[in-house]
Amino acid sequence: MKVILAQPRGFCAGVVRAIEIVERALQKFGPPVYVRHEIVHNKHVVESLKAKGARFVEDLSEVPPNAVTIFSAHGVAKSVEEEAASRNLPVLNATCPLVTKVHNQGKRYVAQGRRLILIGHAGHPEVEGTMGQIAEPVTLVQTENDVDRLDIPSDTPVAYVTQTTLSVDDTRGIIAALHKRFTNIVGPETRDICYATQNRQTAVRELSKLVDVILVVGAKNSSNSNRLREIGEEAGTPCYLIADGSELDASWFKNAKTVGITAGASAPEVLVEEIIDAFAQRYAVSVETVSAAEEGVFFPLPRPLRETQAAE
Ligand code: SF4
Repeated sequence: MKVILAQPRGFCAGVVRAIEIVERALQKFGPPVYVRHEIVHNKHVVESLKAKGARFVEDLSEVPPNAVTIFSAHGVAKSVEEEAASRNLPVLNATCPLVTKVHNQGKRYVAQGRRLILIGHAGHPEVEGTMGQIAEPVTLVQTENDVDRLDIPSDTPVAYVTQTTLSVDDTRGIIAALHKRFTNIVGPETRDICYATQNRQTAVRELSKLVDVILVVGAKNSSNSNRLREIGEEAGTPCYLIADGSELDASWFKNAKTVGITAGASAPEVLVEEIIDAFAQRYAVSVETVSAAEEGVFFPLPRPLRETQAAE
């Protein structure tokens, strides 16, 4: 069995930073610290932080007075920031800087008097956070068909922003539909889709040319992992999204000589290693890598935790 690993795969700079914020907060302030929503969409990451003393809540009402509170990498609505401020909760914000960039871009468009359209998936916490950061109503579109159904006059000045973890190709189609629909429209094209999402999508496309089956390691609620699975599948390769090695199904590999593995931006590398180990117990395995991009992105920690970093 030949295993080909997609490069890059797994953790992005925003996820590394978010996890480090929780770990350093635990070191600096001691457990428990409270995290609103899963810090990143991965059960293994969440469980390991829970074991160190992090408590995960969905609503700030579950956070006791004065407890250190961390916002997840997906970002939060303004109302959540305001609630934390009104309760004087000490907050560490782990929102990925690339999500914050989209918030700021949306605010600038609205300040220019444009009606804002967000391309994204309903119910995803990043979408809820972005919509909740903009003072004016934001219109969500998820598909090209949604664009046809928009009840907005075609000469209205509009602008769009996108969720950071979408499929580049799907988004391009929606943007083209928006340009057809509106005469006065501005937006970042697909540049809001973050570097990590784009690189992992390019790598899975390369992988699909080389392998019989693709495994995407990632959580079922991870947007970028789901997009990787769809892109592998659209490229014509059977593609399975699995949380970890326990979900492997031998029937997927019956006629496969070459298996590709990639991982969503919130999936730890240890899960990929476990899967290779599981293969190695059944087959004679060789491992190669197909590289689509080099990544050297790093985001600094919030200031109070940077001091902890410097003190070590
Ligand atoms: S996937 Fe992109 S936007 Fe999301 S945390 Fe990673 S770098 Fe940030």
